[in-house]
Amino acid sequence: MPPVIVAIDGPSGSGKSSVSKGVATRLGFEYLDTGAMYRAVTWWALDNRVSTEEIAGRLGECAIISGTDPEAPFVTVNAVDVSEAIRSPEVTAAVSRYSAIPEVRTMLVEMQREAAGNAGTGLVAEGRDLGTVVFPNANLKVYLTADVQARAQRRAAENAERGHDADVADAHESLSARDAADSGRAVSPLQIAPDAVEVDATFMTLPEVIDHVTKLALEHS
Ligand code: C5P
Repeated sequence: MPPVIVAIDGPSGSGKSSVSKGVATRLGFEYLDTGAMYRAVTWWALDNRVSTEEIAGRLGECAIISGTDPEAPFVTVNAVDVSEAIRSPEVTAAVSRYSAIPEVRTMLVEMQREAAGNAGTGLVAEGRDLGTVVFPNANLKVYLTADVQARAQRRAAENAERGHDADVADAHESLSARDAADSGRAVSPLQIAPDAVEVDATFMTLPEVIDHVTKLALEHS
C-alpha cells in the first residue's frame, strides 16, 4: 500500500504547522514542514552571503535534512541544526525571495516527494504548493485559512515566545507582504487546489481544527 498523503496548504500564520503536527500524531503518520526547508535554504544563503542571482549555481553546497517525526521536528543544513535559526526575522523577511527561484523549488520538491516515498503508512505535508504541485494525487487536500487579523495575533504571540518583535501591527504587515509575494510569484504560487477542502480556522480552536482535519483524513484514506 502506498502511504496516505495529506496535503495542507494555506497562507502564513493560518496554523498549518500546529494542525499538521497534531493530525500526523493522531494518525501515526510522518510529518513534513516544507516551509522549514525553504527557510533552511534561505538561512544558508544569508549566512554565506549567496544572493538570489547566485543561488541556483550553488545549491550543491547546501545539504538539507528534514526530520519527519511530528513530535520532534528538526531541520539541518550541512549537519548544523538550524530549527530555531530559521525562524529569525531576517530569514522570515527574505524567504519569499529565495523560494521564488525555480532551481530552489526543483531541489526541494524532489526531496519532498522522496520523503513521501519513504513514509510508512502516511505523511502529512504542509506548505503552499503541496496540493497543487508536489502531490497532485494526495488522498486529502486541505486549504487552511484564517482572517489576517487572527493570523497576525497568533504570529505575534509566537514571536513573543521566541523573544522576537511581538507587535501585532508588525506581524500583520509582515504576513500580508509574504502572502502577496507567495501568491503573486510566477512559479508555484499559493493557490487553492480545485479539489481542496477549505477550512477557515478564524473561529475554531486548535483541537477543533485537528479533530476536523483528522476526520477528513480518515474519510479520504
Ligand atoms: O510555512 P512558512 O511560513 O514557514 O514558510 C516560509 C516561506 O517558505 C513562505 O512564505 C513561502 O515563501 C515559502 N514556501 C513555499 N512553498 C512551500 C512552503 C513554503 O514557497 N511549499
